[in-house]
Amino acid sequence: MMEEVKAHAILTDFLQAEGFKVERSYILPTAFKAIYYTQSDEPDVNACVICEYDALPGVEHGCGHNLIAEAGLAAAIGIKAVIEIFPDVKLKLTVMGTPGEEGGGGKIKMLSKEAFKGIDFAIMVHPANFNAIYPNVLSLNGMEITYTGKPAHAAAYPWEGVNALDAAVNAYSAVSMMRQQFKPTWRAHGVFTDGGLKPNVIPDRAVLSYMIRAPNNAELEQLMDKLEGCFNAGATATGCTVVINKSDIPYFDMRTNSILAEIYRNNSMELGMTYPDIETDKAQSSFSTDMGNVSYEVPSIHPTYALNTTSVNHTTEFNLASNTIESHEITLIAGIAMAHTAIDVVFTDGVLIQVKEEFYKNK
Ligand SMILES: [Zn+2]
Ligand SMILES: [Zn+2]
Repeated sequence: MMEEVKAHAILTDFLQAEGFKVERSYILPTAFKAIYYTQSDEPDVNACVICEYDALPGVEHGCGHNLIAEAGLAAAIGIKAVIEIFPDVKLKLTVMGTPGEEGGGGKIKMLSKEAFKGIDFAIMVHPANFNAIYPNVLSLNGMEITYTGKPAHAAAYPWEGVNALDAAVNAYSAVSMMRQQFKPTWRAHGVFTDGGLKPNVIPDRAVLSYMIRAPNNAELEQLMDKLEGCFNAGATATGCTVVINKSDIPYFDMRTNSILAEIYRNNSMELGMTYPDIETDKAQSSFSTDMGNVSYEVPSIHPTYALNTTSVNHTTEFNLASNTIESHEITLIAGIAMAHTAIDVVFTDGVLIQVKEEFYKNK
């Protein structure tokens, strides 16, 4: 996590060579900010294009973030060309390099240091195996539950022990039973990260790690409260003590700005992309992204675009699909649609106001 040293170097070198003012290691070691404008004074409008470039252990670019960086650069080059052609346009372009999306909450850490202050709108795209303008981005938080009991010889004096593994198993089962009362849109998925060392010692420590998801922050809180009851039940049943830690980098749901989104839709359709009806669009998949947190701070979109693959994200097959000539070409189209979107917002009278009106209405 946050180990994107090579990608950080390649992307920042490229942007610098293209004439951007680059701030390497902006807030985080592998984050960056690159800006471009031609006016002598700071322009009024600040459009942000986002690059992700982190990978996953085992499946490498199984989420295709290499392509997100490519699309971001393509959009940046396109927007920069327009700024050069129209030097009077009061537009500042910011390319934000945001590392550690897969669990590291790079954007959340950058937001906490006001990285997106002054930005008027932010655009990124994400490869998938479907096209969506309004992807179903769930609020997400992590919970780590540690049970502490008492060790004992498991054959000679088991009654002297307090079994932390039993506490964890109990809690895991309780969560699984509670699933019957989950809303269909709720998710709780967990693993045992510690469950004792030797079978002949009553385990005095066990740890569960859960990821919890719901359609919005309020429902996520509701779900986490319910689960807390399950986790405490494991401790009560066994006599263990329990410590429940929530992640300090919760991922928010995505408040897709519909004005930006519909402009992107039109631009990408002109370039040949197609979309299903809006209900299907929203229901194709569910995942979480720290772009959700950005969408609470500035008007944002996070459309997905399909690579020519039936494989799903976070797989070896998707990693292979993320590095084909065809996928690079599809990504270029998404990048052009991003650039056209930013340019439309800036050049069409009143659109930026509409974008902001919707943003503040939903805030
Ligand atoms: Zn991913
Ligand atoms: Zn991803």
